Order: sequence, then C-alpha cells, then structure tokens
Amino acid sequence: MIKLPGVYIEGVWQHGPQVLTVINPSNEQVLAEVAGGDAAAVERATLVARAAFVQWSTSSGPTRAAILRAIAEGVEARRERLVQLQASNNGKPLAEAHIDVDDVVATFRYYAELADNLGRDRSVALPSEDFVARVRREPCGVVGLIVPWNFPMVTTAWKLAPALAAGCCVVLKPSEITPLAELELAAIIAEAGLPDGVFNLVCGTGQAVGAPLAADPRIAKISFTGSNAVGVQVMQRAAQTIKGVSLELGGKSSLLVLDDADLELAVELACLGGFFNAGQMCSATSRVLVAQALYPAFIDALKARAEAIRVGEPFSGESEMGPLVNQAQYQRVQAHIAAGLQAGAQLLCGGSRPAELPCGYFVSPTVFTEVPLDSALWREEIFGPVLCVRAFATEAEALALANDTEFGLVASVLSRDLQAAERIANALQAGLVWINAPQVIFPQTAWGGYKQSSLGRELGPWGLSAFQEIKHVVRAV
Ligand code: NAD
Repeated sequence: MIKLPGVYIEGVWQHGPQVLTVINPSNEQVLAEVAGGDAAAVERATLVARAAFVQWSTSSGPTRAAILRAIAEGVEARRERLVQLQASNNGKPLAEAHIDVDDVVATFRYYAELADNLGRDRSVALPSEDFVARVRREPCGVVGLIVPWNFPMVTTAWKLAPALAAGCCVVLKPSEITPLAELELAAIIAEAGLPDGVFNLVCGTGQAVGAPLAADPRIAKISFTGSNAVGVQVMQRAAQTIKGVSLELGGKSSLLVLDDADLELAVELACLGGFFNAGQMCSATSRVLVAQALYPAFIDALKARAEAIRVGEPFSGESEMGPLVNQAQYQRVQAHIAAGLQAGAQLLCGGSRPAELPCGYFVSPTVFTEVPLDSALWREEIFGPVLCVRAFATEAEALALANDTEFGLVASVLSRDLQAAERIANALQAGLVWINAPQVIFPQTAWGGYKQSSLGRELGPWGLSAFQEIKHVVRAV
C-alpha cells in the first residue's frame, strides 16, 4: 500500500492525522492512502502563508512570471506521470488526460505573461487641478483554493496560476477523492523556486479541511469550485469575516441544433458535450434541443454514435469513455436514470452498466427523449453520461427552453446560418457560447456563468483581478 503525505506547509511534506483512501474507479482497487490534514494544519498553513505574503506580495511581476514558467515546464516534464495519475485516479481515457495536462501548461504560461505585464500604477484624470491621483492593483492576501474531483489539476491551475501571478499566498485543498494529481503538482511547484510558504497544500475532506479554511479569519478570499450545496456553505462561512468569494458551481447547459446544421458535426458535438469525462462536467450540454425538421435523422444518428462509443479501461488507448469517479457518483447517476424512467422519459440507448464491464463504475452513454420538463432529469445537474434530447419548433421556443434553468454556465449552437447562430448566442443566458465548435477553452476567454452557476469569472484578465484589490492614492498638489 502506497502511503503518501497529504500536507505540504512551508516547503515541508507532512503526514496529517486523516487517512484518505484513494481508489482506481476502473477496477475499484485502492491506489494509495493519503495522510490528510485537519483544522490545525489549516491554521498552520494560513499562518505560514501570511508570513510569506510580506515578501511575495511585493515581488516583481517578472519574478513571479519566471516561477510560473518554471511550473509550466515542470508540468510538461512530468506529463506522462500526470497523465497516468489522471487515468488511474479519475478513470480518464489517455487522450482526455493529455488534454488536461495541456490546459494546465497553457494556463501557467498565460498567467506568466500577465505577471510580466502587471504594469505600473496608472494616473487617474480628475476634475480638479488641486489633486493628482493614481490607481494600483495589489494582491488581496492569503487565499484559500477549494477544488472538486472532475478536473483535478485543471481547476487548480485556473485558480493557482492567477493567484500567484497577482502576488497572493495560497492554501490549496484538493478533492479528497482525487488528490494524486495535486500532490504531484505540489512536488513540481516545490522544485520551481517559489519561496517556502507561498504555496501550501492541505488534503482532506470538506468538513475537516474545507470548512475551517472557508472560516479562517486570516484568509482574505476563498475561490471555490464544486457543487451549489457546498458553495452556499462556503459563502455562509466566508460571510462571518466578509471574505471575498469566487464560486464556480453547477450547470444544466444546452446544445441547440438548428435545421440547417451539419448533422454529422451536431451528433459528434452532442456526444462530446454529454460524454466527455463520462459526462462529469459542469459544462455538460446535457439538454440537446433539435429543430423539428432535423429531429428524426438526428435521433437515429445519435443513437448509432452513442452505442458505438468504446467504454472501457482508460489505459487501453482504445477507450473513448472511462468510468465515473467512484461508487457514490455511480449510484447518484443510476438513481437519476431510474427517476427519469419513473417520470416517463423514454430511454433511447444506454441506461446501465455495459455488460462486458462487470467491475468498475462504468455507465453506458445514455440518451433520453420525451423527458418531462418538470422532471429532475431535465432540470437537475446529473454529472454523468446522460443526455436529454427534445425537438423545438421555433427559435423562440428553443431559446425559452435553453434559458429556463436556474443555471447558466455555457451553451453550444450549431447552424450554417452564422447570423442566426450569433443572434442566438447573444440571447442565451450563459457565460460562454460555442458556435459550431467543441468545448474548446482558451486561458484568454473567461470561465463562469450566469445565475446560480457562478459568482465571478475565472481565466483571462478577470481571473487575475479576482485576486487583486484596487487602491487609489490621491494627493494634494
Ligand atoms: P463538492 O461541492 O462536493 O466538493 C468540492 C470541494 O469542496 C471538495 O474539495 C470538497 O472536499 C469541498 N467541500 C465539501 N464540503 C465542504 C464544506 N462544507 N466546506 C468547504 N469545502 C467543502 O463538489 P464535487 O462533487 O467535488 O464536484 C462536482 C461539482 O462541482 C458539480 O456540481 C460541478 O458542476 C461542479 N463543478 C463546477 C465547475 C465550474 O467551473 N463551474 C467545474 C468543475 C466542477
């Protein structure tokens, strides 16, 4: 049994008191035990981070940029190891695990560029000659980063890279389900030249580590990605000391297929939007809305494609879709499928474990039609490989269906009529809309959504300013 230290404070690895059992969801075997931390470890980490903040917060942009580039290089150098960890701990097929590593590298490089160009204070034009003013941006302090299991390392990079670029010191809490990638990332960071205490990591459960982190009065800001239920708790704890809070939460996004769309592309993107990462994506376009004229042909082609998806062991190199992350998630998804059937939805394909995979948390790509609009299947985030497909008659109806949700993270539109697609993109209540494109994410474009999907934005310059305070200095002439 591999036993790993799960606490990294002031450049020192420690074994905490909490044992986290990490499993391989493809074969249900134990991969490692991680000795995670507790409230006392969180306190030590925040104290150390506060001490390190004095110097790191005043370091130059190019100094921070050089370290961010060294982290990017370290990630590239350990690509195969990180891919292996993502495949074994998350069950991600190798191709998907490579995409995650590419994303992490691109994110650290992008924020290195922003750190290089942090710029000087800017003067502010005033309506008086008796005063001059300047504005500067300063790091907001010690920040707590809490991340989920579905894209470990990626969601971490989206927070960690801008936080370090801004000059913040960090206490990171990975998901207790998938800590292995972050432990490797911490080892890379340890070699990148970051002063001790700037980056600290405390593995552990939400109760043992996440909750005290969100409540800690020394933390200036919590950046959280996860479920809405926990997001609310984090916000409530943070409220006690008026902490800044950024939240990236759930979704129930739509893919709209207009009647002139390329059918083959539409089917491919529907499968990617629903089954990539076994559907465990906040950005899953799990509601597929198809123009009536195209609906019969689309349904036939989607069924054929979904049934042809190769589900299996991530390391095979053949698999297009891996397992769900653990038993709890497997049971949750099965319960959603059962409730959908109960509510009267029609199962087009999938709906259960592939017969040839008796072990591991595998669920076949699943498609429902005739889904009642008031059912949980239609309204709630499922976080598994489950699509709901519905026909629409008019553009107005499609928009009304897509926007009728408490979430608003992303959307996709497919049409050869670019004017119509752009018009629909503008009318969708979502933070990111793709037109005739897969869910490509650039560090330059913001991540986050409308309504209950998010509070704030990650990536782009917005991701950096989320970790900055604004200060004006006004002087009498
Ligand atoms: P989760 O909310 O259960 O856990 C997220 C993190 O919060 C974990 O590290 C967990 O240990 C921690 N946590 C749990 N209880 C806590 C508490 N009381 N206080 C502080 N921290 C606590 O979410 P999950 O199951 O790990 O991830 C799935 C969810 O994440 C989905 O709802 C998904 O939509 C969302 N998600 C959103 C985005 C986005 O960018 N919007 C990205 C990925 C995942």
